[in-house]
Amino acid sequence: MAEETSWTEERLEKLQKLWDSGLSISQIGEQLGVTRNAVAGKAHRLKLPKRQSPISKTERQKNKEVKQRDLPLRLVLRDIKWSRSKCVWPSGDPKTVEFNFCGAPIVPGKPYCSKHCALAYTTSRDGS
Ligand SMILES: [Zn+2]
Repeated sequence: MAEETSWTEERLEKLQKLWDSGLSISQIGEQLGVTRNAVAGKAHRLKLPKRQSPISKTERQKNKEVKQRDLPLRLVLRDIKWSRSKCVWPSGDPKTVEFNFCGAPIVPGKPYCSKHCALAYTTSRDGS
């Protein structure tokens, strides 16, 4: 098997450039007209930085985003370490940065201020 590819300065430069641009090993091979193995072997010898394929990176970011969006409000509250003496009535859309909590002094024994207590209990009565 003729595994050895002649790597000219020019081709090495191109390999480095394609590698940095995040192409997959087989795509780089296609560009340079060499086998995937030749690219992988050369990259290894050149100690090029290992990198994730662009696809899996995108997937990971997507998954992360979904996870944050699906986080139940209770967990969001725990993360925020909100003082227990302040109303935790959510205001705004949890998916946006404008999301916040009421913050008014609570009714003792209740998680909300008097205004939001009334609202919470009215809502739950209407719902049942
Ligand atoms: Zn409130």
